[in-house]
Amino acid sequence: MSSVHAFAAYKAKEELRPFSFETRQVGRHDVVIDIKFCGVCHSDLHQVRDEWGGSIFPMVPGHEIVGYVAQVGSSVTKFKVGDSVGVGCMVDSCQECASCGEGLEQYCEKGFVGTYNSREKDGRPTYGGYATKIVVNEKFVLRIAPNLPLDKAAPLLCAGITTYSPLRHWKVGPGSKVAVVGLGGLGHMAVKLAAAMGAEVTVLSHSEKKKEDALRLGAKRFANGADPETFKTHNRYFDLMINTVSAALDLNSYLQMVKRDGTMVLLGVPEKPEPVHPFPLIMGRRSLAGSLIGGIAETQEMLDFCAKHGIVSDIEKIKIQDINTAYERMLKGDVRYRFVIDTASLG
Ligand code: NAP
Ligand code: ZN
Repeated sequence: MSSVHAFAAYKAKEELRPFSFETRQVGRHDVVIDIKFCGVCHSDLHQVRDEWGGSIFPMVPGHEIVGYVAQVGSSVTKFKVGDSVGVGCMVDSCQECASCGEGLEQYCEKGFVGTYNSREKDGRPTYGGYATKIVVNEKFVLRIAPNLPLDKAAPLLCAGITTYSPLRHWKVGPGSKVAVVGLGGLGHMAVKLAAAMGAEVTVLSHSEKKKEDALRLGAKRFANGADPETFKTHNRYFDLMINTVSAALDLNSYLQMVKRDGTMVLLGVPEKPEPVHPFPLIMGRRSLAGSLIGGIAETQEMLDFCAKHGIVSDIEKIKIQDINTAYERMLKGDVRYRFVIDTASLG
């Protein structure tokens, strides 16, 4: 066991403050990771503010974790001390159900163990990446290729895989017309990944000032999602629409822009649900779907895809002491395009 410096929310909606805890005893299959960087996901903010209900406090958020292996258990075969590694949103699952059997641990029928705001199988709370160390079973540890800069690779562990997985599932490739709604952490990764897969990408954003960035990130087109004209000019235009918006959105209007037999995938999880009328689905045999992060094998595939194509996140590095300001800025859409905590600031 070793002692860990961290930042935690002690209560819903309170500012994060210093916190310390002891790691678990290192098991035979465990990997001890010295955390170097951790991305700040909008899900951290939703959970710190208990917007989804059931939050566990004190909460050490963070599920875009990268660092170096500091120690391995006696039966660990995949990793050795010094390796560059990452941990995403999951640290365990039942390993027995059909979903786990297919490598889709995120859909574990007994519920996966989240990296934070969750409980280990023995009931202890899990603590995430706003910390100096984490101990994780090697099955849930990912390998990061040496050509990827660690700080910029951190957001791949959630924003990257969450957008890669639906792009693959709905078979995006050359000729696909993909809309990315919301240009934030997830959105900017969706643009880079879909463009690398050969799709024609359009960003639908309510921030006109992000247009130049959208094109630089790989989008061919940009349209203002707050302008009613956009809905007319893009009627039945997209094969796949990736919705990353963290607030409620008029899904009925957005669905009109999806082609017959096309799909809108919901990734964003707003606090309040959004009503959907059957007509926009019926009139174009359209599908409305959701998608949750990605399995461990697919996360490794995504990291290797990014290493091959030189894809990383656009980040703004912060000290842990700036986390509360960073949350406020994220709420205002003032981040280009992911905050990443340098854990050296935890001392
Ligand atoms: P983020 O960086 O804050 O980006 C969200 C984007 O949504 C903003 O940049 C903004 O883009 C748009 N937006 C925000 N408020 C809006 C409003 N009122 N109206 C219209 N657009 C608005 O957040 P993120 O980290 O990418 O996360 C996005 C969502 O995905 C969150 O709800 C998060 O919890 C969820 N998430 C889901 C999964 C999953 O597995 N499904 C995984 C991770 C995160 P524009 O300025 O371009 O409009
Ligand atoms: Zn996340």
